[in-house]
Amino acid sequence: MNYTSTRSACAVSSSEAVLHGIADDGGLFVPLFFPRLPREIFSLMTGMNYIQRAETVLRCFLTDYPQNELHHCVTAAYNGPFGIAGPAPLREVEPGMHLLELWHGPTCAFKDVALQLLPHLLTSAAGRIAPGRKSVILVATSGDTGKAALEGFADVPGTEIIVFYPCDGVSEMQKLQMVTQTGKNVSVCAIEGNFDHAQRGVKQIFADASIKSFLEDGGMSFSSANSINFGRLAPQIVYYVSAYCDLIATGKIRYGEEINIAVPTGNFGNILAAVYASELGVPVKRFICASNRNRVLTDFIRTGVYDCNREFYLTDSPSMDILISSNLERMLHLLAGGDYAEVRRLMSELKNSGRYQIPAEMLARLQRCFYAGCCDDRNTGETIADLFRRDGYLCDTHTAVPVNVYRQYLAETGDSVPCVIASTASPYKFAPAVLRALGDGGTGGGFSAMDELHRISGVAIPRALAGLKDRPALHCSRISKDDMPRFVRDVLAGRNG
Ligand SMILES: *Cc1c(COP(=O)(O)O)cnc(C)c1O
Repeated sequence: MNYTSTRSACAVSSSEAVLHGIADDGGLFVPLFFPRLPREIFSLMTGMNYIQRAETVLRCFLTDYPQNELHHCVTAAYNGPFGIAGPAPLREVEPGMHLLELWHGPTCAFKDVALQLLPHLLTSAAGRIAPGRKSVILVATSGDTGKAALEGFADVPGTEIIVFYPCDGVSEMQKLQMVTQTGKNVSVCAIEGNFDHAQRGVKQIFADASIKSFLEDGGMSFSSANSINFGRLAPQIVYYVSAYCDLIATGKIRYGEEINIAVPTGNFGNILAAVYASELGVPVKRFICASNRNRVLTDFIRTGVYDCNREFYLTDSPSMDILISSNLERMLHLLAGGDYAEVRRLMSELKNSGRYQIPAEMLARLQRCFYAGCCDDRNTGETIADLFRRDGYLCDTHTAVPVNVYRQYLAETGDSVPCVIASTASPYKFAPAVLRALGDGGTGGGFSAMDELHRISGVAIPRALAGLKDRPALHCSRISKDDMPRFVRDVLAGRNG
């Protein structure tokens, strides 16, 4: 029993945390303590492949999973779907700047690394603690989570998955990927609103007692594939540990030397996983939190004031267009030293006024290890063009943001410690914007932009994206956000009836 809620003391196992997704008090599940991996384990992991490293790291967190089940889960997730590159190859693009390519999975974004594994973790947990019950996965997506979750859960026995995306907030490719999804247990629906509306709507459904009892009667329960689920975060911790091992294995650093980690941030899940990796023993000097024009996190880290009463912008990096970063709550829990009352206070202020300020000592702790910066679409485009011309490396609109912010950091501090930058999507997933950045004003939409980008760069187009052209749209519902509960009921009634 080593997980608690961020908002009040409770004790659940890792299986329960994965299965339920969110705590009953509305808080998020967090580990009560982090083991520190000794030097010998790092030495061993340096000689291991990704699957073995994943098992080693996940055993620290998923403590009640039987060893053979965990082995089965990890092997099923990572042996195959990511091709020969594996889930997390590290590429030194400029001296000291290492891009951790996390988009070699089936949907071409980093969320595959977690969402190829989560269905296995979830069904394993369900088989042990809630046999015979169906898990209903509700997802709010800013674009990439939805498809990655659909791809992970499609036709997984004992699960049902329902995805909501903001109708105007996702790229053409992201939308096509979702509406063409096949599977007997999948539903996809556009909502009128932005990502925060979708996320809030899903949270409200989770908290709705009448829907809950409706599910109960049908032998079902909700779970989440969003990064509020600890089962999403745990697999992301692995690749930061793995990157550190790769730096040792290739002689770039010696064990114990510090690195920086820069992450394009939206819901704060990916960068939080880096923080958790450092708790395990990866020596991180600075976490570089990079935002697009929706710079709520930049302002928070610089001032200690989190304020989402501001204009919301649609940008070329839509998966970072977020004003309410759910996983920040876990960071607050860590910064507050596990003070539940303080987290409750901050979260209720956020709910009531959209704004809170953390106490000075929490801010000092945060600033000791975090650097924050942001860049707009123009600077993002310039970074894409610069990286391509200088290094022959093509990156997407999300990855360009931390590259840009890392350069701001370098200019300000001169800190030349090796930096691992999370590269979170294939450039082909956002081809029109990448092409515009390269000065090619093509207007022909996603597929012709992919062809043109291929002509310019010679980088192969992922088959999963090219193949979308010929797939029929299967999911065309579009509803107001207030109709989300009804949509969920209708889907589930239809499945059971
Ligand atoms: C989801 C996503 C992000 C943001 O990650 P968070 O964990 O939400 O902070 C960044 N880039 C891409 C491509 C994404 O899909």
